[in-house]
Amino acid sequence: MSSEAPNKPKPAISLEKVPGIRFAKILLNNNIISQSKIEKAIRVQQKLGGNRLLSAIFIELGIISDDEHRRVIRNHGREFRLGELVVELGYISLEQLDQALQAMPSMPGKRMGEIMLSLELINERQLAQALSEQLALPLQHIELDMIDKALLSQFSLRFLHNNLMIPYHESETKVSIICADPLNEAAIREIGQKRNKQAEVSIGIQSMLESLFSKLTARSKQTNGDEQDDPIVEIVDGILLSAIRDYASDIHIEPLQENVRIRFRMDGVLIHKMDLPNEMAHKVVARIKVLSEMDIADSRKHQDGRMAQTVHGIDVDFRVSTYVTTFGENLVMRILRRDGGIRSIDKINMNPGLLERFKHEVLDVPTGVVLITGPTGSGKTTTLYSAIDYLNRPSTKIITLEDPVEYVVDGIMQCSVDVKAGRSFEDSLKAIVRQDPDVIVLGEIRDQMSAEVAVQAALTGHKVLTTFHTEDSIGGLLRLMNMGIESFLISSTVVSILAQRLIRTICPDCRQAYMPNKRIAKLIGLDDEVLKNHTFYRGTGCGTCYGTGYHGRTTLHELLVLNEEVREAILEEKTSHEIRQISCDSTNLLSLMEDGLYQVMHDKTTVEEVYRITPRSLSNRSVTEICRMMGDEI
Ligand SMILES: [Zn+2]
Repeated sequence: MSSEAPNKPKPAISLEKVPGIRFAKILLNNNIISQSKIEKAIRVQQKLGGNRLLSAIFIELGIISDDEHRRVIRNHGREFRLGELVVELGYISLEQLDQALQAMPSMPGKRMGEIMLSLELINERQLAQALSEQLALPLQHIELDMIDKALLSQFSLRFLHNNLMIPYHESETKVSIICADPLNEAAIREIGQKRNKQAEVSIGIQSMLESLFSKLTARSKQTNGDEQDDPIVEIVDGILLSAIRDYASDIHIEPLQENVRIRFRMDGVLIHKMDLPNEMAHKVVARIKVLSEMDIADSRKHQDGRMAQTVHGIDVDFRVSTYVTTFGENLVMRILRRDGGIRSIDKINMNPGLLERFKHEVLDVPTGVVLITGPTGSGKTTTLYSAIDYLNRPSTKIITLEDPVEYVVDGIMQCSVDVKAGRSFEDSLKAIVRQDPDVIVLGEIRDQMSAEVAVQAALTGHKVLTTFHTEDSIGGLLRLMNMGIESFLISSTVVSILAQRLIRTICPDCRQAYMPNKRIAKLIGLDDEVLKNHTFYRGTGCGTCYGTGYHGRTTLHELLVLNEEVREAILEEKTSHEIRQISCDSTNLLSLMEDGLYQVMHDKTTVEEVYRITPRSLSNRSVTEICRMMGDEI
């Protein structure tokens, strides 16, 4: 490159060869940036060896932001070739695009999307996402119960299957179609013409459509034998099945003025799944009430009940409650998977170093109180059961008192509180210690009495596992003191307090680099240096994550293992601030927020999510120090 010869005209650049030129041209045509800025970026690109996308260089030079990049792609998708778009979306590299282009002649008749799929450069979710961006069509996920069966019966299943296309809903003027290949215009037209309506297309992931077809085929074989299925039974089954498949924790059936809304709580957040007409919803609620042994004649009182079902081969308990509202009964079902709930201790998402300490310094200690703490929905029960599972051996007698028993564990004695049957929490507590247990599990410490029983049992040589409702580990200690338990009893019986939170993880299908909000980043303990040098990610929202940008959850932990210094501090009844400081200095206590920070640095979650979930804790530790303490090689 001869930039030192000023008189010579600059060598003409063959624009068509510039990687990412399509994006630059769109910016230019829409007066977003000037010709000279583009030329500058091209020069930078060439200096860097010409294998970086122009858009990446625009972003690095601060000419456009990540958000603008995303917006331009969304608004101008049609102007890109699919291959270019997939590169812009960051799914493949420029080299991989070349690889796909070179493979083209050897795969005659195949389109770019299919070629990239067969070379395994992208997965089918990414293809669906890219098509959705390119064609400005929504990416959608549908379930069997969302398909209008009457509409479907107008078409030959084979024709639909061959084209991977499902007409699933129609209005007066439109017929909605979901398909894997929205460019299959002939088939789309045919469906529209047959209903004499305008076709409205959305994109579905190929394997999802395939599995729907296998179910539709199975069903058509079944129902050809015996017709007259009760549609309400079918709808209820459909809702339960769909909730189990989605790993939902709760089902909400909510009467509104116009219709009834059905939402699932997934990863802690409510997601709107479908609507039902009022009259049908009434029957759905009645059916669920029958199944959960509620009084169906009474819809003016709040009720609760329980039902056990086998859904999709999984034994599931549903804890059902109704709440009478202006427009009818609001019904909420908590989903309790009988076996799916028990996880091995190695699978509770605990950092390996921390897990070793939890096993050997906490669970393996034969006596003492172990508290697991956090708000409702923080995964305490899962951790409690995995600890029980870890301690469950033929030589150990484990007895539980729960309200109610949530998961059945083989080999241990479990008891549900049942006041009606004369087994109150208090009576059961007295009875449990006479049963010669090694390990006592109390579902929850709820008052002074249960706290005293826990401490007394530990004093007499038992191991006690229980949960508590406090913000963090130090808060757990304080709460015991405030319940009137003597500080010398606390300091001599409590072995450890584990605080935890569930935190949403970034959706893998729409993950993108971005710059987090500086103020929030600072509040959770990230300094400018780290902000500048680390690439942060977030999800931008897609079909996989229902537009939330998050998919799945992981757990944050704060493990306090009491040592002499901390016991001393408790005995001296120091303030929570002092106890926290002593614990940090002498036991290597890492706070929930510090664990959150660690997860952010490992691209698991976002700065915003850590800020939303964790209690504020002032930390003097640097990111490097936290990562070192977590056992990262640096
Ligand atoms: Zn997503």
